[in-house]
Amino acid sequence: MRVAHTDERGWVAYAAEPLPANKYIGEYAGDYVTSAEAGDRLARYDRDGTGHALLVVREQLPDGTVARTNIDATMRGNVSRFFSHRCGEPGSDDGPNLELSTVRSLASPLSRVGVFTARNVEVGEELSFSYGPPPDGRLGQRQRCLCGAQGCSGWLPYALGS
Ligand SMILES: [Zn+2]
Repeated sequence: MRVAHTDERGWVAYAAEPLPANKYIGEYAGDYVTSAEAGDRLARYDRDGTGHALLVVREQLPDGTVARTNIDATMRGNVSRFFSHRCGEPGSDDGPNLELSTVRSLASPLSRVGVFTARNVEVGEELSFSYGPPPDGRLGQRQRCLCGAQGCSGWLPYALGS
């Protein structure tokens, strides 16, 4: 991977070599925080007008309940924090080229989140996943999406993964 700074969208990661589909890229690493702490942090990032890399993952468990995992890579994380949002269907020609998948073990109550390629990725392609559906206007500030996909919704999701 290669990371470069862009004027309009900050830091962006690109593939430095061809990547086959379904390849493990790395873990979405960051602070694991409670939902209350995630809400506080999102409000603070909104207020300060800074970007953030707080990922919210909801999983349907076998017993029918939904587990929510909040991983904040804003202050501590790895290269995954530089993966862009892209609108569209993961793995489609014009959609995000990465997907997230959770891994849950009996050893920990917390899910870990892996990043995988959703299709073949060419050298120089921007690495992206879908942060989630566009915001419905009830939550926080709306921020223009600059992903460039043909089916771009025009707005960035409020929190990653929500
Ligand atoms: Zn978009």
